[in-house]
Amino acid sequence: METMESVYRSLGISSEVLDYGQRIESELKERFEAIDATAEYNQLKVIGAMQKCKVSAECFNASSGYGYNDLGRDKLEEVYAAAFHTEAALVRPQITCGTHALALALMSNLRPGDELLSISGKPYDTLEEVIGIRPSKGSLAEYGITYRQVDLLADGSFDLEGIRQAVTPATKLVAIQRSKGYQTRPTLSVEKIGEAIAFVKGIRPDIICMVDNCYGEFVERTEPSDVGADMVVGSLIKNPGGGLAPIGGYIAGTEECIENAAYRLTSPGLGREVGASLGVMQSFYQGFFLAPTVTAGALKGAVFAANVFERLGFPVVPDGSESRHDIIQAVTFGSPEGVVAFCEGIQAAAPVDSYVTPEPWAMPGYDSEVIMAAGAFVQGSSIELSADGPIKPPYAVYFQGGLTWYHAKLGILKALQKLIDAGIAKLP
Ligand SMILES: *Cc1c(COP(=O)(O)O)cnc(C)c1O
Repeated sequence: METMESVYRSLGISSEVLDYGQRIESELKERFEAIDATAEYNQLKVIGAMQKCKVSAECFNASSGYGYNDLGRDKLEEVYAAAFHTEAALVRPQITCGTHALALALMSNLRPGDELLSISGKPYDTLEEVIGIRPSKGSLAEYGITYRQVDLLADGSFDLEGIRQAVTPATKLVAIQRSKGYQTRPTLSVEKIGEAIAFVKGIRPDIICMVDNCYGEFVERTEPSDVGADMVVGSLIKNPGGGLAPIGGYIAGTEECIENAAYRLTSPGLGREVGASLGVMQSFYQGFFLAPTVTAGALKGAVFAANVFERLGFPVVPDGSESRHDIIQAVTFGSPEGVVAFCEGIQAAAPVDSYVTPEPWAMPGYDSEVIMAAGAFVQGSSIELSADGPIKPPYAVYFQGGLTWYHAKLGILKALQKLIDAGIAKLP
């Protein structure tokens, strides 16, 4: 039998890189145990929700056409609502991605003359066009919905005084983005999000609080919906799809918010009653069942990457020891070559498309060229091991995912190997 070392070597990892990685891994035992305990807690939460909703084998049947009386679809939405502790949920393959889910939540709950207020600073790049910060056809701005933004303070906390001043009688909905996205600010903990929501509700309790929950699901034991959010919104090709959902998005929240979203997704008068599930239900259920464990694997990869690169002198956000609130790891290389070498390593470690070389391109929705590495079973899935790097200063790579910890580890070692081979990184 081959040794572990020789198996790694056959995949292009030198003994020096492997040794360095093993040393770091051995120092992370306690962190990994805490991640496993959170996964255990969330696994029980999901199983409990499925049992409470009496999920049965019939739920996996496909519907077509209008999709009337689709038991699996309706029950899955009950399961999400039970797991997120909300009144209702909309979980559909017709929600094409995270941006669509967020646009839907906003457009369905805002009316002309209303104002949207972001209290976590600049939103995720693709939302700039949804809101109309960058002019775009069909934006909220075109419908007479105004926008205001309060930036986070320099230490990453909410600017409460700024929020108080920004709330006007027109403020209808407050948006909070849990994850840092393509920024190097800290990700917000559920606890801090809860404090901000309480503050907003203290100003005016009828303001709808929406949280962009992308990449945050199951990282902690609670979700923003446990601390007062009226809507939590995310993508099924990230954490909650568990790597199995081939498409989809979700919104979980109050009955009223979800009803509004459903009438906008399909049609006024039709709402949740239509929308065929086309045979994806088993993967939605099974993916949600696996999501806590899959998220834990991705989280271990992020913590490992932070420690691997921090010790080589590259700035990392979050740092190697701080607490985690999403699965994204930012590593700053300071040069386009570093970003490219890292992404080449992630790509070369993939089970699918490992032989292709990723290159920067002008991706729709982004304001600079972006290089993306992904060898995924589901196209564009970022719960699978993947990395994105906008080709602009500070030349940071945003790395996330890994359906298993072992794959995440291989990807990070392979990225390190590429950086060493290119002379960009040096082992201590
Ligand atoms: C991924 C992401 C989105 C958008 O999701 P897509 O599925 O890429 O459209 C929005 N907000 C945050 C914080 C994200 O991470």
